[in-house]
Amino acid sequence: MNIFENNPIVPIQKITFPGNDIPVNVFMKRDDLTDIFISGNKYYKLKYNVQYALENNIKRLISFGGAYSNHIHAFSYVCRLFGFEGIGIIRGELTYPINPTLKFASENGMKIEYVSRSEYRLKHTDEFKSKLKEKYGEFLYVPEGGSNDLAIKGAVEILDNIDIEYDYVALAAGTGGTAAGVISSLKGEKFVYVFPVLKGSEFLRGEITNFVNLHSFATYNNFDLIKDYHFGGYAKTKPELFDFIDEFYNLNDIHLDPVYTGKMMFGLNESIKSGLIPEGKTVLAIHTGGLQGIEGMKHRLGNQPENYF
Ligand SMILES: *Cc1c(COP(=O)(O)O)cnc(C)c1O
Repeated sequence: MNIFENNPIVPIQKITFPGNDIPVNVFMKRDDLTDIFISGNKYYKLKYNVQYALENNIKRLISFGGAYSNHIHAFSYVCRLFGFEGIGIIRGELTYPINPTLKFASENGMKIEYVSRSEYRLKHTDEFKSKLKEKYGEFLYVPEGGSNDLAIKGAVEILDNIDIEYDYVALAAGTGGTAAGVISSLKGEKFVYVFPVLKGSEFLRGEITNFVNLHSFATYNNFDLIKDYHFGGYAKTKPELFDFIDEFYNLNDIHLDPVYTGKMMFGLNESIKSGLIPEGKTVLAIHTGGLQGIEGMKHRLGNQPENYF
């Protein structure tokens, strides 16, 4: 049975925010429950990449990511599941003990190649790609975070079959591929708030617009970036973020990860408090998964709260 045959049906859950009696309804689409190993948006982003590789008889897939990447985690699993040779180009150097994400990836048989940060920045260049080709032969190039046109095509399906009425969508963004799929699927209806988890995310508006054009041959302006909740940058955290994640879990029985969904929900709560969403409206927040990253964060911080920022 191919896990991509039918998109998973997940609950849409009513959300309570900590200490906050807000006049806005918030629901969460629980895509953290899509699959244990291919969670959240990565399920949708990998779906058509896998289909493309199967249809074109491509046996080797190469992708890219940081050492704790949710994408690399899901990618390695998918490669094992479908019998592809998976190669992960990882930013930075090998450190011991090997972190839980890369341990999982290598247990799935993914070949890991570490490259320096400066080299990693060149990964999209023809020169880099031809070096890979010399070394590995034919392969499907799956970009960092999985974001290509096939990934957008998958992300378009995230809002299929939602059985509640809603006015706004909220989601976290790294590369913006998922946001682009969601925006494409809405065809100009409703409004999407995108919460970048990187600092200096001005580029993301253009990036999302390009991805949307690529997929829909259209431009939609019914989205905005809320840029104030990156907590210092990608994978950077602060004690108040962990406090929020704990409280949120106590109230809703939903785990959020500190890299993406925790920041998004924190930012959504703050934005609602400051009056961003008109009274009586309904927001559908998307839980894009990524819970494997919690272990990675613990590994990185050594369970020391004083290291959290
Ligand atoms: C990868 C990831 C994102 C970002 O998705 P993009 O398509 O790169 O914007 C958001 N949330 C989680 C949990 C992720 O793992």
